[in-house]
Amino acid sequence: MIINAEGIVLRQRKIANNRRMIVLFTKQYGKLSAGTSVNEKSRSKAALALRPFTYAEYDIFKGREAYSINSAQVNKSFYSIGEDIDRFMNASAFIEYLDKVLEEEVPAPKLFSLSLEFLQSVSECRSGSDTLLYAFIVKSLRLLGVAPELGCCVNCGKAPENFGDGFKMFSVSGGGIICPECAGEEKREADSLIYRPDFDIINVFRYFESKPIKTFEKVDLKPEVRSEVREILSEYTDRYLGVDVLRSSRGLEVK
Ligand SMILES: [Zn+2]
Repeated sequence: MIINAEGIVLRQRKIANNRRMIVLFTKQYGKLSAGTSVNEKSRSKAALALRPFTYAEYDIFKGREAYSINSAQVNKSFYSIGEDIDRFMNASAFIEYLDKVLEEEVPAPKLFSLSLEFLQSVSECRSGSDTLLYAFIVKSLRLLGVAPELGCCVNCGKAPENFGDGFKMFSVSGGGIICPECAGEEKREADSLIYRPDFDIINVFRYFESKPIKTFEKVDLKPEVRSEVREILSEYTDRYLGVDVLRSSRGLEVK
């Protein structure tokens, strides 16, 4: 049976007989691994569709045990991502993130649309593309069912208006915002992980959640906000999704 799917390439590796295994994120079938004998280095239309940061349409033969890409054509190439180190690093972290959070053959159409928006914005952004990556990750948390609690203290349910002196803490271990009283108690536990940002963490997360990705093409976060958002998201995704693409690329940041 031949199936047709829109998708982006997550990863590929060489397999036997001059073939390669391509891992795609498809709109219709979710993550899909398919073999192919199309040579990436050739100048054929199908080869172009196997390059990184390309949105393409694939004709895939579904055999009894495996998938095989017969042909492909490019819908859109976000080639400008490869021309800039900052864009390239953040788009690569995004691909690694998708590869880790997606389950094989479980469709995730909303996450797919969000991914296309992300690629489009990264290829066009004027300022640092890390804000786009943070926005993408925050938005993806809800789609993946692990959104942080921002409406009330994760421990006692108190609304943030009643937190007292106004500052808001974020408990990675608790999965959302936490009031000062509960934070004091939780800090005694060995695996607690509580942040007390100098900015309003609720507003920052809500801003990321509510605005379209395109909004962040021109947004540069203040350095202190940026590094704390990065740290919190890094710990949070590690804890709830078992993936941490932000920590691994941190070494390349200019300090
Ligand atoms: Zn509380």
